[in-house]
Amino acid sequence: MAHALDGTVALVTGASSGIGEATARALAAEGAAVAVAARRRDRLEALAGEIEGAGGRALVLEADVTAREAAVETVERTVAELGRLDVVINNAGVMLLGPIEDAPVEEWERMVALNLNGLLYVAHAALPHLLRAAGTEPRRVADLVNVSSVAGRFARLGSGVYNATKFGVGAFSESLRQEVTERFVRVALVEPGAVATELSSHVREEVREQLQRAFDFERLEAEDIADAIAYVVTRRRTVAVNEVLVRPTQQVR
Ligand code: NDP
Repeated sequence: MAHALDGTVALVTGASSGIGEATARALAAEGAAVAVAARRRDRLEALAGEIEGAGGRALVLEADVTAREAAVETVERTVAELGRLDVVINNAGVMLLGPIEDAPVEEWERMVALNLNGLLYVAHAALPHLLRAAGTEPRRVADLVNVSSVAGRFARLGSGVYNATKFGVGAFSESLRQEVTERFVRVALVEPGAVATELSSHVREEVREQLQRAFDFERLEAEDIADAIAYVVTRRRTVAVNEVLVRPTQQVR
C-alpha cells in the first residue's frame, strides 16, 4: 500500500521520549525513513529497533543539539546516511518553570540553549536540504515543523522565560515561512497544551506541585500531537497548515 511519505527522509529531534518518540513512529508508519536524534542513545536504539521491526528504516543520532557543531552534524549525517531530507521535526525542548524572582538563571540558560538556539541551529543546517527536496520527486514539497506550545501564544505567571523561548519560536517560524513558502518549503508551528510526557518531571519540586494543581485534568497523550504533526506533513503540495494549537479539552489556559 502506498503511503504519503514513501521515498522521503525525516529527522526528529528529541525523539528519545514523549512527543518526538511518538512522532518518529507516526512518520515511519507514513513511509518515511526516520533519523532519530537526542542524547539518550539506548532509548533511540530501542525506538529504531521497533521501527525497523515494523518494516521501516531508522537512523540513530546521539546528539546534544545545543552545541552548534552537533546540530549541524545531526543534519549532515541524516543526509549522508539516508540520502536526502524532506521533513524536519524540531521538537527537542525543556520546560523549567517558576517565578522570575530568585530563579536559578542556569535554568533560563538551558531553556534558551535548547528551545531557541538548538532549534535555530537545526533549522539553519536543514534549510538547504529542505529546499533541494522541495524541488524533487516524490513530493516536490518539504516540511519544517517547529514544536512550540500554548506557552508560545499566551504568557502565564510562573512561565516567563519558557514563554519567551516559545514566543521566539513562533516569531522565527513566521518569518522563515514568509522566506521559503513560495519555494515549497512549508514551515509549520505546532502548539501543544498539556501532554503527559517527561517534560514536567524536570521542574523543581516546589514548582511541580503547583503545576500538578494547575493542570489537574486528563492530559493529551504524545500520540495526539504526533497525529497533528503527521496531518501537517501529509497534506498535498499546495496545502500548507501553518499553525496547529491542540489542548486537552479541559485545559482553560
Ligand atoms: P520530553 O521531556 O518527553 O522530551 C524532550 C526530548 O528532548 C527528549 O527526547 C530529550 O531527550 C530531548 N532533549 C533534551 N535536551 C536535549 C538536547 N540538549 N539535545 C537533544 N535533545 C534533547 O518532553 P515532550 O515530548 O513533552 O516535549 C517535546 C516538545 O514539546 C518540547 O519542545 C516541549 O516544549 C513541547 N511541549 C510539550 C508540552 C507538554 O505538556 N509535554 C506542551 C507544549 C509543548 P534526551 O534527554 O535523551 O536528550
